[in-house]
Amino acid sequence: MATKSKRVYFFGNGKAEGRGLPKEVLGGKGQGLAEMSSIGLPVPAGFTITVDTCALYYELGRKFPKDFEAEVKDNLKKLEKATGKKFGDVKNPLLVSVRSGAARSMPGMMETILNLGLNDVSVAGLAANTKNPRFAYDAYRRFIQMYSTTAMGLSKEPMEEMLTEMKKKAGVKTDPELSADHLKQLCEEFKAYYKKNMGGKPFPQEPMDQLWGAVKAVFGSWMAEKAVTYRRVEKITDLHGTAVNVQEMVFGNTGDNSGTGVCFTRDPSTGKNVFFGDCLINAQGEDVVAGIRTPLKLSDLGKYLPAAWKQLQNVRTQLEKHYKDMQDMEFTVENEKLFMLQCRTGKRTPAAAFKIAVDMVKEKLITKEEAVTRITPEDIERMFYPVIAETDKKKLESSFVGEGINAVPGAAAGQIMFTAEAAEAAYTAGKKVILVRKETSPEDVGGMHAAQGILTATGGKTSHAAVVARGWGKCCIVGADILDINVEKKQMVVKGKTYKEGDWLTLDGSSGAIYSGQLTLKDPVLPPEYKTLMGWCDEIRKLNVRTNADSPADARKAVEMGAEGIGLCRTEHMFFEGRERQLAIQSMIVADNTDDREKALSKLLPYQRKDFEGIFDAMDGKPVTIRLIDPPLHEFTPKDDAGVKELSKVTGLSPDRIAARIDQLHESNPMLGHRGCRLCITYPEILDMQVRAIIEAAVLCAKRGKKVFPEIMIPLTMASKEFFILEKRARAVADAIVKDAKSKVKYLIGTMMEIPRATLIADKIAEKAEFFSFGTNDLTQMTMGLSRDDAGRFLPEYVDEKKAGVFKADPFQVLDQEGVGQLVKLGIEKGRSTRPNLKIGICGEHGGELSSVKFCCANGMNYVSCSPYRVPIARLACAQFEVEAKKAKKAAPAKKTAMMKKAPAKKKAPAKRK
Ligand code: ADP
Ligand code: MG
Ligand code: MG
Repeated sequence: MATKSKRVYFFGNGKAEGRGLPKEVLGGKGQGLAEMSSIGLPVPAGFTITVDTCALYYELGRKFPKDFEAEVKDNLKKLEKATGKKFGDVKNPLLVSVRSGAARSMPGMMETILNLGLNDVSVAGLAANTKNPRFAYDAYRRFIQMYSTTAMGLSKEPMEEMLTEMKKKAGVKTDPELSADHLKQLCEEFKAYYKKNMGGKPFPQEPMDQLWGAVKAVFGSWMAEKAVTYRRVEKITDLHGTAVNVQEMVFGNTGDNSGTGVCFTRDPSTGKNVFFGDCLINAQGEDVVAGIRTPLKLSDLGKYLPAAWKQLQNVRTQLEKHYKDMQDMEFTVENEKLFMLQCRTGKRTPAAAFKIAVDMVKEKLITKEEAVTRITPEDIERMFYPVIAETDKKKLESSFVGEGINAVPGAAAGQIMFTAEAAEAAYTAGKKVILVRKETSPEDVGGMHAAQGILTATGGKTSHAAVVARGWGKCCIVGADILDINVEKKQMVVKGKTYKEGDWLTLDGSSGAIYSGQLTLKDPVLPPEYKTLMGWCDEIRKLNVRTNADSPADARKAVEMGAEGIGLCRTEHMFFEGRERQLAIQSMIVADNTDDREKALSKLLPYQRKDFEGIFDAMDGKPVTIRLIDPPLHEFTPKDDAGVKELSKVTGLSPDRIAARIDQLHESNPMLGHRGCRLCITYPEILDMQVRAIIEAAVLCAKRGKKVFPEIMIPLTMASKEFFILEKRARAVADAIVKDAKSKVKYLIGTMMEIPRATLIADKIAEKAEFFSFGTNDLTQMTMGLSRDDAGRFLPEYVDEKKAGVFKADPFQVLDQEGVGQLVKLGIEKGRSTRPNLKIGICGEHGGELSSVKFCCANGMNYVSCSPYRVPIARLACAQFEVEAKKAKKAAPAKKTAMMKKAPAKKKAPAKRK
């Protein structure tokens, strides 16, 4: 039998049993506590119950595993020894917090219970012992509140109302002003409420019962709806439970020499190297996070608690040196003494991510390679989030409503919704939404996700709204206390003006300004750190990054984004631009003899030539892969009678004949029909015209002194002979033009690899093909027998982990490495077996997706190609691949021989910058 597995890990007194264990075992919070204890930071002692125990708890039908309770009791004894206090003691009771913590941070998702261990007797003992009855009863009323709502699921509002009532009765405004007697009375009211709503059962007085109840509550919260929603929204599918941390309580609410706070080692909005955060004097941690009281700036801590402030600054330096990354910390000061309660890698805005990574390299904390791994594709995407474009000062001034705290930068415009449900409904109806709330709570996550921007009336930069929005890079303004929100009436009043549900608002998350109406938004100016870091990516990566672009404008945009060529230029959209072109291609299609077809094509030639010239100019010396006509011809035919009539005039064919011809073109399965290079096999005149347009444009550009590298790509190849026929014909046309013009233009002819059969016979195709470009959209479609256009009906269920869960991700977004990937590998291997320096790239949607790009790197491609906005993501992915590969090689020198075997193939591949 296997040995009994350890489920509980102790930490405290400068040591931690679980040090070095992964988050998957201890959870993020448990890991942070273990690490901070081990490096000698002041952490209250405690123990962590593993994530596995939670998973097992569910497997056993919500029951604790065998021997678990005994293990907890052992650790409790250790904790008593470490703290010199006894659990349930009547004079000096050991009080604990029971905290959740999964492997990934889920802000506010899982409930925490503080001050556990108190009861009617020990609260009096604590009051006497600390000579601070106000504090003791405040702790007790908080505990009863949290235990009732979190562990027992009673609703929160009634007790909050009782608290508000009590403040009114006492004639005070804030919680700290309540006296011991008020709080004592409140405890009695809370307990009575508990008893009434728990079917006559009194509030548990036995600390051990309280502890088991709390542990079960934390386990239970893993499956609570808001936690499940958060995981769904965040696409967290690989976690199977939460750890539980039981930790000695320290008190920030003993009086004015105590306090609590949340801080970041650097500014998470801008990335600036300044100590940043919120704190409250005489409060327990929840108060800051919940955004109920508006907190003080962290730097004000020095005014009230100078000794602790100094200590905290040292902790900041020590933690950054240790983790070499920006940390997010929670602390509490009890009677001038600092305690650290949590640390984790801090969430940050994209701009901050770039600044921190670049600054840390300059500070020699990390290397360029490490810096590159600190950026995510989402960071890059979010760098391009809009800002307010309005330059008309008068208009800006007149629509200015007021200001809140600028929690997450970026601008957003949308219609006001006052509840999460309304926001989700409006989003589903295709509206842009600004979610306006007094404060947000985990229940609001769905609505927050649906919104363009979030605006709250209370809370600081570490409130729930700010933390969640920052995680998503979503524009957010908090603490806008000028808002007077009335959810029932679906309206708010700001400075005497009423705003109703559906009214437009524009938020500037960078400044905190709120505007009425819908202002124009535009692209942001990128900070210098973006350029620096992307430059490092370019130094590190080995693959080229190209773009998919069909027009000079797209091409220019892509070059701006760092594209080093065009990997896919589709020619068909050029046929749609303007009526004349449409009529020309339509005349070509309805022609029933080669002569007429050629005549129609000759009308298209100058258009295409001009388009290609524009693109070559925009790409100035960079390679451009142009794909010959791809879609089935029926896509170009007139769709109505007026169209048919006009075509009839142009061609001289009767409308009936045209209609008949269109009918003829109908296919029951056009995606597998007469399209791609099959069109050029039957109508080689089309190929002649397109190749002529490409090469003539190239010759013209070259004459003007531009460098041009056209690559002619044959789509949808399925047989070697098919390719050979077209390759020969294309070469004949191209060579004749080059020769006539006495030009030195060089070109390549290759094929798209998008039919499974082509990958199987890639060695034969490579006899003539000078490059392959994997068209993984069609390759996925055809390998899986899965129609891209119809998959919407069932694919979501296939991908949803909670439904069928057949695939982890949509195979049209994330390359299916297990299946389709094999064909890609085979195609590369076979192709290079014939032509060792065969140039290979990818041009499907996958060319801009992190894991797919890494796959392309690992399998020896020369380049990836993606849409212009994803070019920087591809640059990052290629760089991250190299960093990870280097690390893996270092970590496993034993595998060297296996790697060496692969090396020669790589060496033969052409070098970068082709
Ligand atoms: P979350 O996951 O929402 O951050 P935490 O477990 O960190 O929840 O706890 C909520 C609040 O309670 C935090 O502000 C934290 O600092 C505070 N807290 C947790 N444990 C203790 C403790 N042992 N002593 C004092 N405060 C605590
Ligand atoms: Mg916390
Ligand atoms: Mg295709």
